[in-house]
Amino acid sequence: MIEIKDVHKSFATLEVLKGINLTVEKGEVLSVIGGSGSGKSTLLTCINGLEPINSGAILVDGTEVHAKSTDLNKLRRKIGIVFQQFNAFPHLTVLDNVTLAPRKVLGMGKKQAEEIAVQQLENVGLGDKINVYPGRLSGGQQQRMAIARALAMSPEYMLFDEVTSALDPQLVGEVLDTLKMLADDGMTMICVTHEMAFARDVSDRVAFFHQGVMAEIAPSDEFFRAPKHPETQKFLSNIR
Ligand code: ATP
Ligand code: MG
Repeated sequence: MIEIKDVHKSFATLEVLKGINLTVEKGEVLSVIGGSGSGKSTLLTCINGLEPINSGAILVDGTEVHAKSTDLNKLRRKIGIVFQQFNAFPHLTVLDNVTLAPRKVLGMGKKQAEEIAVQQLENVGLGDKINVYPGRLSGGQQQRMAIARALAMSPEYMLFDEVTSALDPQLVGEVLDTLKMLADDGMTMICVTHEMAFARDVSDRVAFFHQGVMAEIAPSDEFFRAPKHPETQKFLSNIR
C-alpha cells in the first residue's frame, strides 16, 4: 500500500504539491490526469524518493520514503518506474539492458537474470528481439523493453509517467496493451496518462490534479460519467 499524507513539495519558491492525500491499495490501478505543470510527475518522483518533500509523509508498505533511516535503494527495488523518454543503454543489447539491474543491483547470476529477462521480454512481446540493440527497435518496442526492464526487478509497484506520450499514434496501442496486461495480472500501478480511454477502461480510480492540488478522485466510471469538480469538467470537455 502507498500512503501519501498531506505532502507538500516546493521547487525554490514554487509550491508544486499543496497537501496531497492519497492511498493506493495493493492491486489497485490508479490513473492520474491533469494539465501541464499540475504536479503529476513530481508526485511520482517523490513516491520513489527521487525528490525530497517539504512536509507530510509518503509510506510504502509502512516504510516512510523520506525518513533518514530508510534504505532508499532497497525501497526502490520494489517500485519500478518508467518515463516518457526511453532511457535504454544504446551499446547494450535488449537482453543486456534488461539483465543489467538484476545483476548489478540484486547480484543475480547471469543465467538466472537471463531467464527472468527472456520471460519478461516474451511477456511484452519482444521475445524475438533479445539480441538486437535498442536503436533498432521502434519507439513502442523501446518502451515495452523499458517496462520489461523494470519488471525484471520483480517490483511490487509500478509508476508510469506518460509512457505513450512520445510515441507515434500507431504505436500507442501496443504499449497500452502491455499496461493492461500488467493490470489484469494484479500489479499495483499509478499511471500518469493522457489516454482517457485507458484511464476509463483499465484503472480502478482516476485522480485529477490541478495546480498542485488533487481536485478530484473517483472510481473511473463515475469520474468520467459525472465529474464533480469544475476544473475536471473543463479538462474533460477540452479533450473530448
Ligand atoms: P506535464 O503534464 O507537463 O508533464 P506535470 O503535471 O507532470 O506536467 P511537473 O513536472 O510535476 O508537472 O511540474 C510541476 C511544476 O514543477 C512545474 O511548474 C514545473 O516547472 C516545476 N518543476 C518540475 N521539476 C522541477 C525541478 N526539478 N526544478 C524546478 N522546477 C520544477
Ligand atoms: Mg509530467
